[in-house]
Parts: sequence; structure tokens; C-alpha cells
Amino acid sequence: MTMPISARHGLDAVPAYRQGRSAPAGASKLSSNESPHAPLPSVMRAVEGAIGSMNRYPNMAATELIATLAERHDVAPETVTVGAGSVELAAQLIHAVAGFGDEVVFAWRSFEAYPSLVRVAGATPVQIPLDADFGHDLDAMLAAITPRTRLVFVCNPNNPTGTVVDPAALERFVDAVPRDVLVVIDEAYVHFDRSQSRGIGLELRRRFSHVAVLRTFSKAYGLAGLRVGYAISPVEIAEYQRKVAVPFGVTDLAQVAACASLAAEDELAERIDEVVRQRDRMSVALTASGWSPVASQANFVWVPAGERTDELNDLLFDGGVVARAFPGEGIRISSGSTEDVDRVIAALAARRGRDADLRVEALA
Ligand SMILES: *Cc1c(COP(=O)(O)O)cnc(C)c1O
Repeated sequence: MTMPISARHGLDAVPAYRQGRSAPAGASKLSSNESPHAPLPSVMRAVEGAIGSMNRYPNMAATELIATLAERHDVAPETVTVGAGSVELAAQLIHAVAGFGDEVVFAWRSFEAYPSLVRVAGATPVQIPLDADFGHDLDAMLAAITPRTRLVFVCNPNNPTGTVVDPAALERFVDAVPRDVLVVIDEAYVHFDRSQSRGIGLELRRRFSHVAVLRTFSKAYGLAGLRVGYAISPVEIAEYQRKVAVPFGVTDLAQVAACASLAAEDELAERIDEVVRQRDRMSVALTASGWSPVASQANFVWVPAGERTDELNDLLFDGGVVARAFPGEGIRISSGSTEDVDRVIAALAARRGRDADLRVEALA
């Protein structure tokens, strides 16, 4: 007789991560906050140059990348850790400080990976609803901290709402959090932030012993497929992270691509400005069409469409645009190229029905 293998205790509570909907051929994929731009030629050349050594394990210490990042941010190299995307670093930080019986506080709705990462570590997610303006309710988050709390995420700008925290309020919050609770400021979208809050994470990292910052090459730098991100953490936390990290998570290809991207930041800045312009253009168009987008500092726009979420999602889909819908709550539409946003605007103007069917045929 065979016995079925049962899952580890607590695994049933882990929600499966859902990837942004894939797009039919010819459609605009605006569901995963990726860069709409093809990789830079200089970055592709760097990756091509490293292909010949893929029979070797990567440099686990990521020496050059870490040295470059440390210099760029004027921090000690020992405080910089890299991972297979910043989602891996979020996991490392959780595993470094939280386990069974511990709590991890974060806003909700926020980055979809947080609840599952916390559960996988055996800890308990404590989700604090966003305020009426779709931003972090820092007072409520502070009030939710108990002796069991080990870590707090602040996603700034927040995914999927695009809101930012007020820098002075965040500083007061960090100062009020007990020093044995790690505050992780997730800055995946920092490059698109044109507000006062831009880069506040690093400043707080410098001034407080219980702050870590997450950054990624996936969004603004267009390396989502190569998987590389980094954290700047208190030195003892960085030490723990190296213990819990899965060895060899960041390939040499990803490391050279990240270094080449840092060397091409001026070129990337132009692309980022363009993504910001298209984001704002999309926002204006949504408002003009009678929707109520939330002002965004990220590379996407959140439309809290509530009951009308399916309607908006269908309108976009019929117009050849794939966005990320959260049924009953709203839709997140990533900023894209001019053509992508033209398509969003055309979709918003269209009526459902025959016109839309014809357009979909034309796209196919
Ligand atoms: C996309 C995203 C990340 C991580 O992306 P990686 O590709 O794993 O670097 C982290 N945090 C937030 C809020 C994100 O939206």
C-alpha cells in the first residue's frame, strides 16, 4: 500500500503566486510592470561576452557588482547582498529574522509575493488595509506591531496602487518602531518616483540600525528575465541573509548585465523618463474617459474600478491590452511604449461589442 506524501505543516495556507496574464500575439502586455524597451545594446554585448563560461558556477560573492553598488550608494560592501530578483532578497530577509509564531506586518493591498513568502517561512502575515487614498496607513501599521512582530514591509512606491509615503511620516514611523523589528523598505519602483519620497529608504538605512532597503534591476533597468536585485541591510542582517540564501542564485550573466546597466545609467534614465511620460499620459486619458486612476509614482497606474473592474478589463482586452485585474477591486495597467498607451487610449474610447470584435480581428 502506498501512502500519499503530505505537505509540510502550514503549506496549505500558502497562496500560489499568479504571474501576470500572458498576452496573445500582437497584444500589449501591460500586466507585469516590465520595461517596454528592448535590452540596451551595451548590456546585450556584456551578456554575450559572458556566455562562453556558462559551464562554470557563478561568482557567488558577486564581487564586482557588489563593489559597484557599494560605491554608487556610498555604503559598506558588507551591507550589500544580491539575489535572484529582489523577491529572493525579501525571502532572505524574512527567513533571516522570522519563523514559526512570528509576525510580519505589511500594507494590503501591496506586493502579491509578501503573503506567500511570509507563510513559506512559517510566520504569520499581518495585513493592514491601505488608507482611503490607497496609501500606507503607517499609524495603523505601527499599532499592529506586537512582541511577536519581527519585520515590517513598506512598499514605496506601493505595488499595485503607485502611492508613496510622506518622507517625514516614514521617518517618524521608523523611529517609533522598536529597534529589534526590521523595517524593510521595498524600492522596486524608486526610479519612477518624482516626489519627495524618492530614495528615502537609503537615507533612513543610513540613520537607523533597523532598516533595510530592497532594489531591483527588473523594472526600471529592464532585466526582469535575468533575475537580479539587491538589498542594503544592517551588517549583521546581511550576514544572516548569506546563511539563508540558496547558493549560486545570481548567474554571472545577470551579474555582468547588472554591471553594464549601472554603467549605462544615463541612457537608462532617458528610457525611464519616457515610461513616466507614458504613465502620466495614460492617467490623463483614464480620467478623461471617466475612470478614476490613482496618482502614480511607479511604472503603472491603478484604477480602483471596484464593481466595474471586469468591464474595464474586458474593454482593455478587446482593444489588445492585457492588464492585471484584481476582481472586485481594481486594475493595474503598466506603462508601456507610445504604441502601447495609444492602444490603451483607443480601447477606452471604444464601445464594447462589434467595434471591439473587429479590432481584435485586425490585431490577430
Ligand atoms: C516586481 C517587484 C519586486 C521584485 O521583482 P524582482 O524581479 O524579483 O526583482 C519586488 N517588490 C515589488 C513591490 C515589486 O513589484
